[in-house]
Amino acid sequence: MWVVLLLVSAALAHPPTEPFDGNRVFRVSVADEDHITLIKELADTKQIDFWKPDSVTQIKPHTSVDFHVKSEDVTTVEDFLEQNELPYEVLISNMRHVMEAQFDSHARASGHSYTKYNNWETIEAWTQQVAAENPQLVSRTVIGTTFEGRSMHLLKVGKSKPNKPAIFMDCGFHAREWISPAFCQWFVREAVRTYGKEIHMTELLNELDFYVLPVVNIDGYVYTWTKNRMWRKTRSTRSGTSCVGVDPNRNFNAGWCETGASRSPCDDTYCGPAPESEKETRALAGFIRSHLSSIKAYLTIHSYSQMLLYPYSYAYKLPENNVELNNLAKGAVKELASLHGTRYTYGPGATTIYPAAGGSDDWAYDEGIKYSFTFELRDRGRYGFMLPESQIQATCEETMLAIKHIASYVRNHLY
Ligand SMILES: [Zn+2]
Repeated sequence: MWVVLLLVSAALAHPPTEPFDGNRVFRVSVADEDHITLIKELADTKQIDFWKPDSVTQIKPHTSVDFHVKSEDVTTVEDFLEQNELPYEVLISNMRHVMEAQFDSHARASGHSYTKYNNWETIEAWTQQVAAENPQLVSRTVIGTTFEGRSMHLLKVGKSKPNKPAIFMDCGFHAREWISPAFCQWFVREAVRTYGKEIHMTELLNELDFYVLPVVNIDGYVYTWTKNRMWRKTRSTRSGTSCVGVDPNRNFNAGWCETGASRSPCDDTYCGPAPESEKETRALAGFIRSHLSSIKAYLTIHSYSQMLLYPYSYAYKLPENNVELNNLAKGAVKELASLHGTRYTYGPGATTIYPAAGGSDDWAYDEGIKYSFTFELRDRGRYGFMLPESQIQATCEETMLAIKHIASYVRNHLY
């Protein structure tokens, strides 16, 4: 009987996987505009969930496109690709299996763990606990409330000292990018674990404060745990449409909705009815605006594709300190690769990944934060958003090196 109970509780603790049985993820090589037209045609007739790029409008020639197809459409889509001679590979042949294989960590089965994916309830309790256990280093505040009424907890990590410069870092913009919140938790743990023991971290925390927002899009994250593992947007509703949510990383006032974003509420890259229409983005932007004199760097953590991006994404223009940002990114990805050999590409968003307006990194930069970066963590598509828990530690360890590299640079180049 206990075995049955354990199995039932384990099943309840994880999101439902049955709806993804037989679903498939394809990677199609796109050579020219004809190929793009064909994929658009396919997306018009079948419900296709674009993974990379984020939408059909962002596909460029000489790239590849990753998308997720429902089991009932798999045969039609495969026939279409073959008939039109579109080169493709199957990245994931059955989503359900990969989704279940995510939970391959050997950490204890319940409660918070840094090497497991934690649900929101567990993360929220953790923010309280980590602050209570490290009062000299960590404090917790609430910067706003989500659409569904959840508190947005912000952790301030650093040794108390007046007038300190700060670095703002957030995770969990896009609900299904689970490795991202895992990294924010890891960062806080490493800070409290190595302060006073490791010289670089000690210096960083003595001289800088880190504002860490562990999950921006909490409602969406909860939804990925309870209803649909592949949800991306917020969970806001509005009159005039039955479609739910806004892409929070298209919702900032930086070239808002001009490119790489959709005005259709049903699309995954919906920019929203106005900039900062979402309570979550408004809370984040409001906090940064009211702390602009101290915040010297903005870091936002996404997945996947292994990239380190800096402005601009809303246009093919370069930031004023482009050379400096490029060198800093180069150094950070070199550090990152030194641990496990994980290779990142880097550069301005528009040319390195694709143009997309309304992103938080561009917005923060235009607010005057000179060091603004978007991380796209592991992997490059083998597991995509369903990175196995057994890779959390290695991913977080290597990412820490890049973050510390940037933080040290910022500390030595205050403005
Ligand atoms: Zn993202």
